[in-house]
This record gives sequence, C-alpha cells and structure tokens, in this order.
Amino acid sequence: MRARIDPTRCQGYGICVEVAPKHFTYDDWGFVQAVQIDADGEHHAAVQHALEQCPIHAIRWIDSPPTAQAKDPSTGNPVRPVG
Ligand code: SF4
Repeated sequence: MRARIDPTRCQGYGICVEVAPKHFTYDDWGFVQAVQIDADGEHHAAVQHALEQCPIHAIRWIDSPPTAQAKDPSTGNPVRPVG
C-alpha cells in the first residue's frame, strides 16, 4: 500500500514530512514527494495521519488498504482510501 501526493494540489506546507518523515520527503527542487515504500503494518497509521493532516487533502492512497489495516487504530473505525 502506497500513498501519492497530487502535485497539482500540494502547496508544499510540509506537514506530511513532519508527521511521517519515512514516507514523505523533499525532492531536489524542494517539492514534497511521497516515498514509494511499503506503508503497511506499523507505517500505515503514520501515513494515514499525514493524509488527515494535509490541509488541502493532496495525499491519497493508491492501493486498497489490506484487510488487517482497514481500521483506524485510534478509533477502530474503518479507514477508506481518499478518492
Ligand atoms: S501536507 Fe499536503 S500540502 Fe503540505 S506538503 Fe504535504 S501533501 Fe503538500
């Protein structure tokens, strides 16, 4: 499961980099990009948190969440991909 930033929406606030630095970083031009690595298991919550904290909702899941990770660990509510 991976996350993607919509470059047409991202305003470069960098909140995602602060919230989930293993999954979001700045490229050589200073634009934020999602690191395309496995975000399952323990990493899922960090990426989901970044997704929720993005003020303009520029982050989306690009694969379906695995069944075991389909619930928000803090609320127990189902997590749905944005899109
Ligand atoms: S938090 Fe959202 S707007 Fe800010 S850099 Fe990340 S993706 Fe872009």
